[in-house]
Amino acid sequence: MAKYTEAKCRMCRREGTKLFLKGDRCFTDKCAYDRRPYAPGQHGRARKKTSDYAVQLREKQKVRRVYGVLEKQFHGYFVKADKARGVTGAILLSYLERRLDNVVYRLGFANSRNQARQLVRHGIFTLNGRKVTIPSLQVRVGDEVAVPEKNRKIPVLAEAREAIARRGCPAWLEADAAAFKGAVKALPQRDDIQFPINEHMIVELYSK
Ligand code: SF4
Repeated sequence: MAKYTEAKCRMCRREGTKLFLKGDRCFTDKCAYDRRPYAPGQHGRARKKTSDYAVQLREKQKVRRVYGVLEKQFHGYFVKADKARGVTGAILLSYLERRLDNVVYRLGFANSRNQARQLVRHGIFTLNGRKVTIPSLQVRVGDEVAVPEKNRKIPVLAEAREAIARRGCPAWLEADAAAFKGAVKALPQRDDIQFPINEHMIVELYSK
């Protein structure tokens, strides 16, 4: 299966912003972007000309990296969003938010989306009572994500559940930490995504 192999902190430095790809480490003084807030490589600090295309491309790459989605799948989400009725950029973000790995992360069962993806692939969670192993599954209103009794002793789950208290759970989800489960109350809206994203730039990029 294709996957990102580039060092996570390099991605933040490349995109010029913190993408929070390493869980708790991102909030400590070990954060590489806080220590070296410029692009990696020999010419990382050089001033560069930025065309409209370059700005749009970087915005798209940033969002792709935040959600850990490869280009082909990301473009697939755009095509679906473009065909749907409504604001394309907001629908695109909604598809990304509704991915099962993102929901697991948002519910506080993992410290990062990357960790959430690994846990899902290992079959740690159930969706509406059935074991699931596909991180890209789209959740729907009323779906319930849970950790079966036999998987509750996994140490990363305990650590992550402490972290959710700091991060908070978005309004479209309902987390029940004591019962190791969470539910989808509504579809995510644009306002539910706090991370700064200019989705219209991605739409412009793909519309060329
Ligand atoms: Fe990005 Fe800092 Fe987290 Fe590394 S530690 S992934 S640079 S936010």
